[in-house]
This record gives sequence, structure tokens and C-alpha cells, in this order.
Amino acid sequence: MPKQKTVFRFAPSPTGALHLGNGFSALYSFAAAQTVGGRFLLRVEDIDQGRCRPEHEAAMLADLAWLGLTWETPVRRQSEHMADYAAALATLDEAGLIYPCFCTRKQIAREIAAAPSAPHGPDGVLYPGTCRALSKSEREDKMAAGTAYALRLNCEAAARRVSPNLTWYDQDKGLQTCQPTAHGDVVLARKDTPTSYHLAVTVDDAVQGISHVTRGMDLFPATHVHRLLQALLDLPTPEYDHHRLLLDDEGTRLAKRQGSISLAEMRASGADPVEIRSDLGF
Ligand code: GLU
Repeated sequence: MPKQKTVFRFAPSPTGALHLGNGFSALYSFAAAQTVGGRFLLRVEDIDQGRCRPEHEAAMLADLAWLGLTWETPVRRQSEHMADYAAALATLDEAGLIYPCFCTRKQIAREIAAAPSAPHGPDGVLYPGTCRALSKSEREDKMAAGTAYALRLNCEAAARRVSPNLTWYDQDKGLQTCQPTAHGDVVLARKDTPTSYHLAVTVDDAVQGISHVTRGMDLFPATHVHRLLQALLDLPTPEYDHHRLLLDDEGTRLAKRQGSISLAEMRASGADPVEIRSDLGF
């Protein structure tokens, strides 16, 4: 039987101009796909409609083309697939694994400050689980009053549902054992948008048949959540490859929010994309 084609992706969010670190990440996936004769897809992760802009998306695609990347079309845009995420949420809801969370950021901070201990996860202090304990009628009252809510995964309940030996393979670090509760009760649908990064990325990697997820090391811990969701939703598990992050001269990670020099600025100043690719090792 012929071997299934491998499928790679680059999945940027159009919240600002791409910087060299994003370019590195895109080239990394693209080169990995080319090396094994795999497919390369681009996915626009635009669920945050407050921060994502069509002009950023257009600029992003132009930057990537300038860098020498080509990708299959049509490009999947997450904002056009909310029904897929709703279906996944419905599955988790039927299994009794999600609950509405009415907490504001302030309330969560207050709760954490007042608690005798505050368990930490890879992204900081874990959600203390306040709304997990609400009764059915308390939930109904809050909903009837129109209080906005997010949907959170009950990670303890989820952990009981899956094999204690869930694993995933990381190209660099080898076989990993999933820690289903490491991130606490993560948000799967935000107050302002009916999905979240973790849910959308997991569903989309499956829908698009991604066999190899390549992305920055900063997302290594998130893979525990994604592996858990794959098990709960009966989705396949890709192979993972978390690459190094590019740092600036001060040793700080390049980031859109840091105002790192953008690919567009480099292009405007006459930089040569072939030179950039070779400087980055491609
Ligand atoms: N959209 C995410 C970002 O721009 C990347 C998601 C992923 O590769 O899993 O950081």
C-alpha cells in the first residue's frame, strides 16, 4: 500500500505584522514538508476577531510568498469554521466534561490571592475551579441574568476518561506522556468567541489531516492539552516538532507585541529573501 502523504502546516494569527521568528517558523515547516515530499498547508488562526485584521492577513500572505513559500489553496480560515468547534464542544458537553465559567479576570485574581495555595501550570497560576462547583440552579440563574460565560474543560473528569498512558511523540524530545491536568481547567470557548486556541487548533489539525505539527518551543506545553482533547474527541495524534525560538540581541524572544522588526520592513528596506533564508539555515 502506498504510504499516506505527510501533511505539514504553518498556522499564524493575523494580529500584526510577521517578524523574522514567524518567518523562521514558516520556513521550518515548509522545509520539513519539502524534505519528505509532503504537503504544506497554511491556516489562518483568526478566532480573535477583536485583534485579527484582514489587512494583516493579506500582508502576512505577501510576506510568506516573498520569502519563497508556496502553499495549497484554499487556505483554511478558522473564523469560517465555528460549526466544527461547536460540534466538538457538544461532544464534550454530552460527556459532561465542560462547564460554564462566569468569573471575570479580577474575580479569578482575587480568588487566587485569597487561597492558601495557588497551583501553577506552564502558563502561570491555574484557574482555581470556582465555577466548577456551581450547582445547576446557580448556573441557570447566572445564565438567565445574562452573565457572560466561557466554557472550561473539567480536566480532572477528563483525565479519568482517558488512558493514564496517553503519549505523543516529539521529534526532539522523544516520547512524551501526556499530563492531562497540567494546565488546569483550560478555556475551550471564550466569552467573546465560541472557541479557543486549544480547541480550534486540535480540531483543525484533525480536519486538515495534519500528520506533522511543527511550531515553536513556546507551544510545547500546550501539546499536553491538545493530546488530551484528541483522546476525548477521538481524533488522530500527529507527530510534533517544536523548534527553537529566535532571540534578539538582548536574548529576548522575537514577538509581534515586542515590536520586533517585521518581514514587511525588511522587504521595504530592500532585504534579499534568499539571504534571509540562508541566514536562517534554509
Ligand atoms: N496560531 C498560533 C500562533 O500564531 C500557532 C498555533 C500552532 O502552531 O499550533 O502562535
